[in-house]
Amino acid sequence: MPGLKIDLHTHSTASDGTTPPEVLVREAADAGLDVLALTDHDTTGGWERAAADLPAGLRLVRGAEISCSRNGISLHLLGYLFDPTHAALAERLDALRTSRISRAERMVDMLIADGVPVSWGQVRELADGTVGRPHIAQALVASGLVPTVADAFTRDWIGTHGRYWGAKLELDVLDAVRLVAEAGGVTVFAHPGAASRGRIVGEDVIADMAAAGLDGLEVDHPDHTPEMRARLGVLAAELGLLPTGSSDFHGANKTVRLGAHLTPEASYDELVARAKGVEVL
Ligand code: AMP
Ligand code: ZN
Ligand code: FE
Ligand code: FE
Repeated sequence: MPGLKIDLHTHSTASDGTTPPEVLVREAADAGLDVLALTDHDTTGGWERAAADLPAGLRLVRGAEISCSRNGISLHLLGYLFDPTHAALAERLDALRTSRISRAERMVDMLIADGVPVSWGQVRELADGTVGRPHIAQALVASGLVPTVADAFTRDWIGTHGRYWGAKLELDVLDAVRLVAEAGGVTVFAHPGAASRGRIVGEDVIADMAAAGLDGLEVDHPDHTPEMRARLGVLAAELGLLPTGSSDFHGANKTVRLGAHLTPEASYDELVARAKGVEVL
């Protein structure tokens, strides 16, 4: 029997994906996946809708992708199967989402000040859950100034440290690793080698994360070159981290398809065995 098809990192309209959670689980089943993780940015807001319409035969791993930083470099931490009612974690996620609103407003204000025809109301309308740069990018596409969402992520527009970019609150990643573990969850460092998104942290930081209790490393990700995947695979083995893979699906906001990259069954089994916050559904 062939192994399970496991995609451990996807987004819905609860953050900056374009597919509603209940549609995402249907599409995952149709794509032949056996396991899907829903990991919206800084929120568990899509969990209920995905769980309510879970197709028979698809397992749902409830998670979130948490905005973090280390040494002034932004990075993303995937947290899985944590207790969403853990007070300290829920409070931090709430603070991250709140900061994203004022930050997006600041970015829209900068665009308006330069005569770009976008409005805060329009961005607010596009964001059903956690607001993110892809919502501003969609407004820029609607204004006709950039052809696609991806084209807005440049230095001239809203790319990291770009002309209309604004900083948002981020958790220290070592604190976040410990906090998710305290809430019964497990953690995986998302796209650690995605250089296209800006500066990446050094391997010393990954070692520090491992020492703080990090469980896994996302090796197979659409933004990683083959060389980066090879290096991260070696590093994961050296540091005792579980290698994972995912599509980082965002619906129409990106071109990648569900299941484009997959997680080895052994890594999935071990992550689930370690988690004690909530069950796989
Ligand atoms: P934010 O979290 O608001 O800073 O926005 C960053 C998010 O935008 C990332 O998590 C990705 O989901 C998305 N993103 C980054 N680069 C691109 C790109 N080139 N094309 C489409 N989406 C992107
Ligand atoms: Zn995203
Ligand atoms: Fe990410
Ligand atoms: Fe993501």
